[in-house]
Amino acid sequence: MVNRRKLSRAEKMAIMARQGWLCGCGCDGPVWPGAHVEYDHVLARALGGVEALDNFDCLIRHCHRLKTGEDITRIAKAERQARRTGKQKPGRNKRALKGRGFEGWRGFDGTRRGK
Ligand SMILES: [Zn+2]
Repeated sequence: MVNRRKLSRAEKMAIMARQGWLCGCGCDGPVWPGAHVEYDHVLARALGGVEALDNFDCLIRHCHRLKTGEDITRIAKAERQARRTGKQKPGRNKRALKGRGFEGWRGFDGTRRGK
């Protein structure tokens, strides 16, 4: 009986990459190898879920806990929205509003102009 299959590092990274390096709960929080994340069965094994990478979600540990209590999730979401509408300043925050994730690591690839 194989109860728990341990995900290898490569498998974990594959799951994260599949999610675009974002938390699987939809909060857009970033995940990366070494972060406090947990892997959740999308379809519980008891319901026929398989031990395939497709059946795993990578969640930030914090989110995983929230997922358990849906009320908390709803409250957090409402709070987030309230904060957003309340703090929206025209003009200045344009940039922060725009980037909603991994637009790229441009500049980290070493391309440098000079000389
Ligand atoms: Zn999340």
